[in-house]
Amino acid sequence: MTDNTAAQYDVIIAGGGPGGVVMGYLLARAGRKVLLMEAYKDFNRQFRGDTLNPLAMGLLDQMGLMDEILKLPHNKVETVKAVGAGGIEAYGLTYSRMPSKFNYVMILAQPVFLDFMVAKASQYPNFHVRMQARVNSLIEENGVITGVTYKDVKGETHRLSAKLVVGADGRNSYVREAAALETITTTQTTDYVVWFKLPLETDDVADGLVAREVSDSTLFMFRRADEWQVSLTLKKGVDYKAWKARGIEVMRADVAQMVPEFAGRMQDIEWKDTALLPVELKREVKWYRDGLLLIGDAAHIMSPFGGIGINLAIRDAVIAANRLARPLEQGRPSTKILASIQKRVEWEIKLTQGIQAKLQDSAPAPDKVIGLPPIARFFLRIPVLRDLPIFLLSFGLVPVKVDTSVLRQRPTSLMPAALEG
Ligand SMILES: Cc1cc2nc3c(=O)[nH]c(=O)nc-3n(C[C@H](O)[C@H](O)[C@H](O)COP(=O)(O)OP(=O)(O)OC[C@H]3O[C@@H](n4cnc5c(N)ncnc54)[C@H](O)[C@@H]3O)c2cc1C
Repeated sequence: MTDNTAAQYDVIIAGGGPGGVVMGYLLARAGRKVLLMEAYKDFNRQFRGDTLNPLAMGLLDQMGLMDEILKLPHNKVETVKAVGAGGIEAYGLTYSRMPSKFNYVMILAQPVFLDFMVAKASQYPNFHVRMQARVNSLIEENGVITGVTYKDVKGETHRLSAKLVVGADGRNSYVREAAALETITTTQTTDYVVWFKLPLETDDVADGLVAREVSDSTLFMFRRADEWQVSLTLKKGVDYKAWKARGIEVMRADVAQMVPEFAGRMQDIEWKDTALLPVELKREVKWYRDGLLLIGDAAHIMSPFGGIGINLAIRDAVIAANRLARPLEQGRPSTKILASIQKRVEWEIKLTQGIQAKLQDSAPAPDKVIGLPPIARFFLRIPVLRDLPIFLLSFGLVPVKVDTSVLRQRPTSLMPAALEG
């Protein structure tokens, strides 16, 4: 084992998802010595969601990045439409009335966003990134997490130390597990979502995020700049194994019935082209230990419905960077500071998960039409209230700004390059 403990980082972030890359960027910009560790060789992931909502775009704008992000290939969605059986529009949720210059959902392929953020962070020589570096143990001294180990591509194990280890390693977080933190599952039932991609054709008319349904599944289609990402959520009580056993032809026909334009393209889809996602909502009782913090999905797994997971991970990253940039300059941040990061948003996470769990556990059975619960339908009919659900999805309830102290460094005022561990 190579001992790199001399190469002390201010922070080691395990996981290059939206939360990890944004936190890494901000702390590097604030002058901290950051190591971002990503298990895979690149960010080229599929089926992870591609949405940036007004909250995330507003935060990225405060970082001065939105002008460039808008030049990346993307789509804008102003209305999320749900189309019921027979092609009848069940409801539309409109972002265009939101009080923001970013009053839409941006569909930006996650790999493009992650590459962009890492390139921006890499302008600071105190930012380091290691790909194919999967954290495989936490180093603990007298109850304090003081670093991590990982195996490189050659199979050699390295030991690295830091004032703070951040677990931004997603829904199956290894860091969370290794820290032995307590997890609560808030859903009683598991939903199953089947994902696949289809080629985009030049005459495709649908503009972005559309939901459609047949009797036992609901389809969501997300238009990326160069392909469609399609998800099928199986309705309550539909058993995945039995559903799959009906054969790929039945699945192809279901999709063709929901989106006739896809009929031809579905002929090339086999089961091996699909990915299965079990959806359960979870959160940690404590997001921290001495020397360790969890953010994003590692701390709270939201439902993919509503498209807020990426945005909440980015928000966690901003709150954490705001509160940690200065303390990390002095030494190891206290657990009081780490606790304050959780406290800032936890009540809203609980509330949101409560609503999502209710919707998931009471989602329509196969014989029911595409569904919003009656209370949501009621809201949508009343002008003053109709925008409330979209407002909550757009901004959440916790107002967050990027601290000016975090933004003080520009790539032109760079620190001397830090030693790579
Ligand atoms: C199928 C699907 C569809 C979704 N759709 C949407 C959507 O439309 N909109 C939305 O907002 N959210 C959506 N979500 C949720 C969203 O993807 C997550 O909430 C968001 O990506 C969480 O970001 P994160 O940074 O916390 O973690 P992640 O994005 O999960 O990133 C974690 C990273 O850590 C890396 N990693 C894992 N283990 C280790 C380790 N031991 N060492 C080093 N690195 C490690 C992983 O490779 C990964 O790159 C969807 C999720 C899924 C699964």
